[in-house]
Amino acid sequence: MILQENKHDFDVAILGNGLSGSLLATILGKLGVSVVLIDGEQHPRFAVGESTIPHTSLLISLLAEKYDLPELNDLVDTKGLATRVCSTCGIKRHFGYVYHRPGQTYDRTEGLQFGTAAREENHWFRQDTDAYLHNLAIHYGAVPRQKTRVTGIEIDKSGVKLQTSAGEEIRARFIVDGTGYRSILAERFGLRENPTRLKHHSRTLFTHMVDVPPFDDANNPLPISYHNGTLHHCFERGWFWVIPFNNIPLSTNPIISVGLTIDPRRYPKPQMAAEQEFNEFLERYPSVAEQFKDGKAVRPWVSTGRLQYSSKNTTGYRYCLMSHASGFVDPLFSRGMFNTVEIIDALLNPLLEALKTDNFDEEAFRPIDVQQQLILDYNDNLVNCSFISWDDFDLWNAWLRVFGLGTFLAEFHLMNGMSDYSRTGDPSYLKGPIKNPIFCEFEDPDYKEFFKTAVETAEAVEARTLDAKEAAKRIFDLADSYAFPVPIRKDALVRARWVKEEAELTENGLGRVRRGFRWALTTPHTRDLVNSAQTFFRWCAHQPDPHLLASNGSKPATLAEPRDVAGVSR
Ligand SMILES: Cc1cc2nc3c(=O)[nH]c(=O)nc-3n(C[C@H](O)[C@H](O)[C@H](O)COP(=O)(O)OP(=O)(O)OC[C@H]3O[C@@H](n4cnc5c(N)ncnc54)[C@H](O)[C@@H]3O)c2cc1C
Repeated sequence: MILQENKHDFDVAILGNGLSGSLLATILGKLGVSVVLIDGEQHPRFAVGESTIPHTSLLISLLAEKYDLPELNDLVDTKGLATRVCSTCGIKRHFGYVYHRPGQTYDRTEGLQFGTAAREENHWFRQDTDAYLHNLAIHYGAVPRQKTRVTGIEIDKSGVKLQTSAGEEIRARFIVDGTGYRSILAERFGLRENPTRLKHHSRTLFTHMVDVPPFDDANNPLPISYHNGTLHHCFERGWFWVIPFNNIPLSTNPIISVGLTIDPRRYPKPQMAAEQEFNEFLERYPSVAEQFKDGKAVRPWVSTGRLQYSSKNTTGYRYCLMSHASGFVDPLFSRGMFNTVEIIDALLNPLLEALKTDNFDEEAFRPIDVQQQLILDYNDNLVNCSFISWDDFDLWNAWLRVFGLGTFLAEFHLMNGMSDYSRTGDPSYLKGPIKNPIFCEFEDPDYKEFFKTAVETAEAVEARTLDAKEAAKRIFDLADSYAFPVPIRKDALVRARWVKEEAELTENGLGRVRRGFRWALTTPHTRDLVNSAQTFFRWCAHQPDPHLLASNGSKPATLAEPRDVAGVSR
């Protein structure tokens, strides 16, 4: 047996054995770096952050390839997840957004579905996926210290010294903080921005429930059940999340994750229990209340204060904060775990180099801080403008395209880079071409300008200098005049496992896909942004969703059709 308790000297000490700590420890352990993984709790334990997006899964599969860790692929492949990790997770085929007005049942033409990928994304039951990763890290040599609090930290030229609640002194050459919003290093070194620079304001209440049925399948005009994705019930300055873990036959888990995220300036925290507050909120929105009428919480409610926090610095001499320790905006758009994985990916090379050369000069880690700050500001604008846009459905319909364009294009660029890397082994393909990105170096070169103008347009509505309908029209016009290239390639789709190698996908067919995507993402006349074969045919023919057609078969007249853009064939 390998003795673990008598080891006290390590290359890297990682605080927090959640997703970030355990994933990083797994990779470092596999590379032969000695790691101690310290946490105040013990697995299995509850963690929030359950819905993945293609970016998260693509990057995890990239890490699996780069570091020869096929076990990581089981986290992102639905069947592998159910058969080799745990049978408690659900699937996510789309982001579903249903728009609600107080006192009214929802209008079925105001539900949107945004496809997550041609393959399924996942709803991770974090207590199980985190325990899987933690055990994998130990398998690859990380030394666990669970139920252990850090009581003292010193960092100097000789290294990092930690005192623990067990009376142990642990020494390391570098320290990574994956302890989330209560970040030990942020507290120890006074790293938090106080007040935060973030514009967005929200607080949240959440729990896990049973007996929450699918949302109104009988009236859903869109092709996929809302239950097969992450459902968002959106309303003025807030949203409910519904994340089913019980939506595939392989799952044995009856639980649904449920939350309510609201702007505390509009809805100040009352003096009442979270369950009561949630219940009273439901009374405002009859269609949501209907879905929850039999729901019962299976664990205690959590009710937070303002969710937003940020840090002045996230890296320094011999230390790095993981994404969730650095800052956070809001769970909307499920970007937290993606940001977590991209920071792990960014940290690995400089960290391995520092360990090799014994030079921990903070300059080498500075680009990670720059990246973390960009990510935070992008997320802030993205969510803040979503909350603004929920004043008016047309504005929200427009704003979702701003998110969609950035997301799809960055995904396609990343997929292309990954495919080139897999084919050649050349890591330079994993660096995106963008020098000064707004959120990630794989974004489209013109997205930054498009995003900036779209944010200003939405913020003008908040400042009451622009009408919401006019803002929606301007954002659609802006999207329409933005010549994004939709860089889809068959080899990249195959590498991402979105299509099979043998799939018949000719250049001609891909051209149609590109034009279809372009139309769908720039027209107000489709709520169905899920990429099924049926949808594609309609996109290519520029046909609105059937349920949006008026009874006489004409197109809805509210907003103009996209024009053709020079240089972009449709
Ligand atoms: C309400 C909410 C909903 C979210 N939903 C999503 C989503 O749907 N999709 C998504 O991608 N992201 C989501 N996120 C973000 C996601 O939760 C994080 O990106 C992710 O959990 C980060 O993982 P982590 O391991 O860094 O931190 P965590 O998962 O927070 O793990 C921190 C670990 O540190 C330990 N720890 C904390 N303090 C100490 C201490 N003092 N001493 C020792 N150990 C300590 C904890 O026990 C825990 O094990 C959400 C976040 C919030 C707040």
